Amino acid sequence: MAIIPIFIPHAGCPHQCVFCNQKTISGQKTAAVEGAKEQIKKWLEWVKPSLENEAAFYGGSFTGLDIALQKELLALTDELLERKVIGSVRLSTRPDYIYGERLELLRAHGVKLVELGVQSLDDKVLEAAERGHTVEQVVEAVALLKEYGFKVGVQLMVGMPKQDFASVKDTVEKVLALKPDIARIYPLLVIKGTPLAKSYAAGEFEPLTLEEAIRQSAYVYKKLFKAGVKIIRVGLHPDDELCAEGNILAGPFHPSMGELVQSYLLREELTPKILEVAKQNGEAVLILCPRNLESKLRGMRNGNLKYWSLLVAPKKLIINGTSVSKIKIICVSSNDLEEAATQD
Ligand code: SF4
Repeated sequence: MAIIPIFIPHAGCPHQCVFCNQKTISGQKTAAVEGAKEQIKKWLEWVKPSLENEAAFYGGSFTGLDIALQKELLALTDELLERKVIGSVRLSTRPDYIYGERLELLRAHGVKLVELGVQSLDDKVLEAAERGHTVEQVVEAVALLKEYGFKVGVQLMVGMPKQDFASVKDTVEKVLALKPDIARIYPLLVIKGTPLAKSYAAGEFEPLTLEEAIRQSAYVYKKLFKAGVKIIRVGLHPDDELCAEGNILAGPFHPSMGELVQSYLLREELTPKILEVAKQNGEAVLILCPRNLESKLRGMRNGNLKYWSLLVAPKKLIINGTSVSKIKIICVSSNDLEEAATQD
């Protein structure tokens, strides 16, 4: 399955949320049909036709676009649908731009999933971020999307102005009640050229540390994941423009935020088991895991390894990626260590 992303930065969005410099986030400066055509052309060079493929309009607020422009853009994806290059279309928009008439249009053009920029379900936080919509509008938008048969995605943030961890937790409970299909989690960054950059410079806003952003994102991830919501992204996509020198002024940026969050969750999940195993006889605690999990288990700069090593000291702690299909934690004697660690 491939996704053909089509960025329409700031188009259809008359707002200026304090954290947003959409042109930078999406890495695309123009919002015209010609721009969309160019992007599609580029992707078609390598995408293999499949009904599993999706075209995705990102950035801006699609349903806020002039209706003629929406139709022009959807005509481009109609062509891909007709040629069976893709099987469906998804797009993102604001919760206050969801109306029945516009949803009819989307439904008629193969749109199956609509992602809403929700960010928070705390009115005080929405107001501080100058989002220009309320919690109630989000709830109504999700209900209407479901009524029209769309799958629903929610984009959530941690680290917003006036948003503490309690507010994040409360938002998660409200999101669970909305039963979205997918979610993205973005720790807030201070981007050059945004109103937030001014607040930051004036000492009026302090972003989360990377550690705190991981902790809060992990909480959101775990709760939503357990409820069956598919988490499709954690952290902004580290494209060249976002990562250009001097563009991110402050905040918890990491190009592999999703991996850091998963490492954190593995630490939370495995610590009780490691402590239990460490009580057994033997000189080392050995964690055998599938090879593709080894770096997540070790954590950023071996953070999990160091953390667990301190917990089980004076025993040694070893993490080994092997051909096992799931994580196995055992206590071994020094004599058996070499053989056990190379177990395949
Ligand atoms: S609504 Fe979305 S595109 Fe518009 S300013 Fe806010 S974050 Fe940016």
